[in-house]
Amino acid sequence: MNVLVTGGAGYIGSHTVLELLNEGHEVIVIDNLSNSSKEALRRVQEITGKEVIFYKEDLLNKQQVDKIFINHSIDSVIHFAGYKAVGESVAEPLMYYDNNITGTIYLCEAMKKHGVKNIVFSSSATVYGDPHKVPITEDFPLSATNPYGRTKLFIEYILKDLHVADESWNIALLRYFNPVGAHKSGQIGEDPNDIPNNLMPYVSQVAVGKLKELAIFGDDYPTHDGTGVRDYIHVVDLAIGHLKALKKLNSNPGLAVYNLGTGKGSSVLDMVKAFEKASGKKIPYKIAPRRPGDIAECYADPSKAEKELNWTATRGIEEMCEDTWRWQSKNPNGYKN
Ligand code: NAD
Ligand code: UDP
Repeated sequence: MNVLVTGGAGYIGSHTVLELLNEGHEVIVIDNLSNSSKEALRRVQEITGKEVIFYKEDLLNKQQVDKIFINHSIDSVIHFAGYKAVGESVAEPLMYYDNNITGTIYLCEAMKKHGVKNIVFSSSATVYGDPHKVPITEDFPLSATNPYGRTKLFIEYILKDLHVADESWNIALLRYFNPVGAHKSGQIGEDPNDIPNNLMPYVSQVAVGKLKELAIFGDDYPTHDGTGVRDYIHVVDLAIGHLKALKKLNSNPGLAVYNLGTGKGSSVLDMVKAFEKASGKKIPYKIAPRRPGDIAECYADPSKAEKELNWTATRGIEEMCEDTWRWQSKNPNGYKN
């Protein structure tokens, strides 16, 4: 199959491109490299021994997007491209709405024009807002608490409307929980531009000596040890979930929504301990106030994906930490080595 991957040089995109190549797909990537490096794709090619067709282009450049569809006979699209930093989205809402939503509209317009109607979209557990209970199933009420989350929610609605208007579209909305980890080779992984916002890249930069100590945002949540609980999912399990979703789209399911998580909740302290064990490094930390907007607990009920996609996450937090550490210790400066 010829698969167009938007944002394919990014963290989850590069791991998914690797799995697609290993399954024998032809992969075309469009990425403006605003939050990634071409080096990631070079390494994916090195690991797989296969070639990726790469366009350094912006999804907002309508003509160029159209050209890609003219140049290649594309069967399906996996759409990762977008900005993802919650804090930045609060400071720069227009930039987020423009990039994430307009980018998706241009992509779908090109798809419609060229008769390509299978798309897998990177949504997020953030569309559940502050869930009334856990585990979370796909039919929970949706809401968003910041502009980033609203872009995900609006794009879900746009894609749902597209399907209502034309039932021949096949759309998978994949709601990711907390992606962490790296490919086993230690050659590709998460490479944040600035000081990381997310827990695991922060922890691994403390371990490698780039950051002094971790601030744990709150130890008074109603959880087993007082720190926030999340559903951490290995990025390779997540990548494989995309291949399963692509396969599903070939059976003309119409619109389908799936949680991609493990179904297990781990606290910040659970993750710190697992990381210390995997790396053999002590992670100094202090308890800081709660981070505004954070919720106590969030984990998936992944049984729908298990049943309908035949997909289940198989990698636990030990493996997530070991793989993160291999990547971080081999590449202390990410792709900038
Ligand atoms: P990432 O930033 O590593 O990857 C996104 C890629 O899109 C980057 O390579 C970036 O350069 C590219 N991009 C952004 N805007 C573009 C544009 N206008 N045109 C072309 N390329 C553009 O992020 P990621 O962690 O790999 O996330 C991928 C997707 O998954 C995003 O849509 C994100 O919102 C979503 N998601 C991520 C997480 C997470 O915790 N990582 C959780 C839930 C959902
Ligand atoms: N967290 C923390 N310190 C940090 C970053 C995150 O204590 O420097 C906590 C955060 O409060 C949450 C968990 O780690 O309970 C996961 O946060 P992350 O930002 O990785 O993902 P989120 O679920 O918020 O999208």
